[in-house]
Amino acid sequence: MPSPTVRVTCGEAGLHEVPAVLTAALEAYFAFDRHGRVLAWNPAAETTFGYTHAQACGRQIEDLIVRPQSRPAGRAELAALAAGQSGHSLGRRLQWFVRHADGHEFPVEMTLTSTDEPTGRIFHAFAHDVTSAHRASRFAAVETAVARGLAEAASSDTAGAHVVTALGAHLDWPVVELWLVDEQRQLLTCAARYARSGLRLGDFVLDELECGTGLPGRVCAEATTCWVSDLQTSPGYLRARAAGRIGLHVAIGVPLCNGVHTLGALCVFGDRVEEPEETLLSLLGGLAAQLGQYLERRRAEELAIELARTKDEFLAMVTHELRNPVATIAAAATLLQEELAELNLEQPLRSLQAITRNAERLSVMAEDLLDLARLESGHLAIQPTDTDLAAIIGQAVENAGPAAQAKQLTLTVRLPRRLDLHGDPVRLRQVADNLLGNAIKYTPAGGAVTVTAGLDDTGQTVTWTVADTGIGIPAAERPRLFRRFYRASTALQQRIPGTGLGLVISRTIIERHRGTIALADHTGPGTTFLVRLPATT
Ligand code: ADP
Repeated sequence: MPSPTVRVTCGEAGLHEVPAVLTAALEAYFAFDRHGRVLAWNPAAETTFGYTHAQACGRQIEDLIVRPQSRPAGRAELAALAAGQSGHSLGRRLQWFVRHADGHEFPVEMTLTSTDEPTGRIFHAFAHDVTSAHRASRFAAVETAVARGLAEAASSDTAGAHVVTALGAHLDWPVVELWLVDEQRQLLTCAARYARSGLRLGDFVLDELECGTGLPGRVCAEATTCWVSDLQTSPGYLRARAAGRIGLHVAIGVPLCNGVHTLGALCVFGDRVEEPEETLLSLLGGLAAQLGQYLERRRAEELAIELARTKDEFLAMVTHELRNPVATIAAAATLLQEELAELNLEQPLRSLQAITRNAERLSVMAEDLLDLARLESGHLAIQPTDTDLAAIIGQAVENAGPAAQAKQLTLTVRLPRRLDLHGDPVRLRQVADNLLGNAIKYTPAGGAVTVTAGLDDTGQTVTWTVADTGIGIPAAERPRLFRRFYRASTALQQRIPGTGLGLVISRTIIERHRGTIALADHTGPGTTFLVRLPATT
């Protein structure tokens, strides 16, 4: 049975019979004669190109869908077809950029065939919009451009600019914006904006938004993707009118997250009405995640730079504001003490002794702070030479002798005659003083302190231990021991003075020697520190 036909009257061009199946087809179908005059235009062509059947029939196909810049080539193609040649398009499946009635341009996939009718040759075109597929294929280019842009960006600002430009230029969005949350000011600020060349944004431009307002505000507040098919029919949006004035319709916003917080929103605006589309959403989501991670990493780096600067300032502050005045006080107090001792004045002498003691404590603290800051910021380098660790430990033990004796501690030392390693003798002595000083300080009178050092079985590593029978460190607190200013509860309960800096400095020094320092397993009361250092072999 022949398929039913629909008679389509096309102005003066005459009649062209269109089968009913083409009226129902999802594919846009149109036909034109050898002069380019439209003879048929099905409902799918109406939706695809934006002209009604009545508006299209009888008009030149060139005027309807061909982009101005493609018209000379289009005319040449039509002339070839009219002359009976197959041109570039006849019998082939090709992609073209065409123009919609509202002026926006988009890609279609089209096939062109011809039939010879009594009225002459007719060309039949079948087309469908391939915007989504086209976008997906270009997303690889966007991702490459974004990755390169992020790698080359000198700051977060330039990184944002790279991303919006890559999205706008490669995917042909007229406007792309990157909004970031300014937590201090409780605002959103526009960190980067791309606008298609020649597009005058006018009052569409906003640089700040209250949280929760506008598309970016909503995306950030709800931390979810938001797709507005047509801003012009969604007047609830802050910039809907301004968008209308510059022909923007669809608006899509995706949140930038770091896994915990929403850092901002990436928003694209298009010049046509578009319904939500999964592929585009997941591609934009992937890009937003990449940018979110980058911004987070960058923020951490910028903070670290800021911190390093603060450390330098801190170093200068401790030197000038703390160390120098304390040294002056200590010197003056010592002088006065000597003078008062000669005069035999008991009370003022005791006060002065207290001043000297406390000034010395402050002085130790200032030196420790300076050492730590210098070591960590690289201002103080380790100067290794061929060193005998046994001699260094021996000197520290000798120096600590009077303090150990004052507390009636049994000080046992087991050292080889020599222990060669490549190290900084001044800094290693500092470690020896700290470990031994702590052992004596945190061991009540009558206890024992044992220092040992030697090569391990491999002959490659020096093992150095400082053990005591003192107040110990509760097991639960041990992981925190090497943190700055950390003091164990046992030391605090007994009110034994200290700064909580010595071990951090010791660890930094040992690590600079490619060694390790840790608390060793300890049987009975007390504490054992274990240091390992590479030996000179
Ligand atoms: P400081 O002794 O000046 O407080 P350190 O960094 O040398 O600073 O030590 C940090 C903390 O570790 C001390 O406050 C103390 O609580 C604990 N500690 C260190 N050595 C010992 C030890 N031998 N016995 C018990 N506690 C110790």
